[in-house]
Amino acid sequence: MTKLVGVIGAGQMGNGIAHVFALAGYDVILSDISEDALDKAVETINKNLDRQVSKEAISTDQAKEAAARITTSSNLGDFSDVDLAIEAATENEDVKKAIFKELSEIMKPDAIMATNTSSISVTRLAAATDRPEKFIGVHFMNPVPLMKLVELIRGIATSDETYDIIQNIVGKLGKISATSEDFPAFIVNRILMPMINEAIYVLYEGVGTVKDIDLGMELGTNHPMGPLKLADFIGLDTCLAIMQVLYDGLADSKYRPCPLLVKYVEAGWLGRKTGRGFYDYSGDEPVPTR
Ligand code: NAD
Repeated sequence: MTKLVGVIGAGQMGNGIAHVFALAGYDVILSDISEDALDKAVETINKNLDRQVSKEAISTDQAKEAAARITTSSNLGDFSDVDLAIEAATENEDVKKAIFKELSEIMKPDAIMATNTSSISVTRLAAATDRPEKFIGVHFMNPVPLMKLVELIRGIATSDETYDIIQNIVGKLGKISATSEDFPAFIVNRILMPMINEAIYVLYEGVGTVKDIDLGMELGTNHPMGPLKLADFIGLDTCLAIMQVLYDGLADSKYRPCPLLVKYVEAGWLGRKTGRGFYDYSGDEPVPTR
């Protein structure tokens, strides 16, 4: 029985994952190498729970109980009693492999490990652990408390038992799962990210402005959020990392990351999380930068 869930990485995804598990009644340890990220995550979770209360989606008691189920830690040594660990650290294969190596020495032998990676091979990450059969990709969508879908990705060694346990848990979170084979960027980002990258090429080549590109896709194709707004929301570092995984993994030039995306990341303009990306977020309303 899964009771205690550990989440590694307390950024925008990690805090959302901790939020939905706590609300579904699981005890959660949220961990990060940065104390600052942990403080911000707790603040965000409390704010988002309050918002759900004010929208009458949950009761005040549910919010209080969920908040009380979450503890934080900057030490993976605290994961010895965890039944399920979900890694949501920076989209970098070496970082993730190092985390799973360390977890292999700490976690109970029957505990399950999962990664929230957007694009990296689940089979390769599983191979860095001591339990590839108890390893699976569990790809939540951003923002986690609102988005219904969770993509499940089986590595080549993932057992049916692990898959069934996780599919059941996803249901308990009130989410719906879609299953993807373990190919670069899986289903959703294989389709979404080349579109976002193309929108950045359209901007780079001067075909349209930020405003016109986003308006075009919002009003012209009924996307709830234009591709550049969405890129800022996801994080431009994450978008670039996913394009690089597609480019390297599928060896097709159609996936080459747009040079403008590379430049923005080099400048530290990573989108909403740093206050600037294709929009400037320093004022009350986002302002297009091009
Ligand atoms: P983020 O930059 O908001 O947060 C990443 C966090 O990981 C940071 O707080 C950082 O301090 C922490 N971290 C880095 N190295 C660590 C380590 N060794 N141990 C513990 N913590 C560490 O990133 P994010 O948007 O939350 O993305 C996290 C993961 O989720 C990535 O794999 C990403 O591809 C995936 N993902 C992102 C989205 C999205 O829309 N942003 C959607 C689905 C999945």
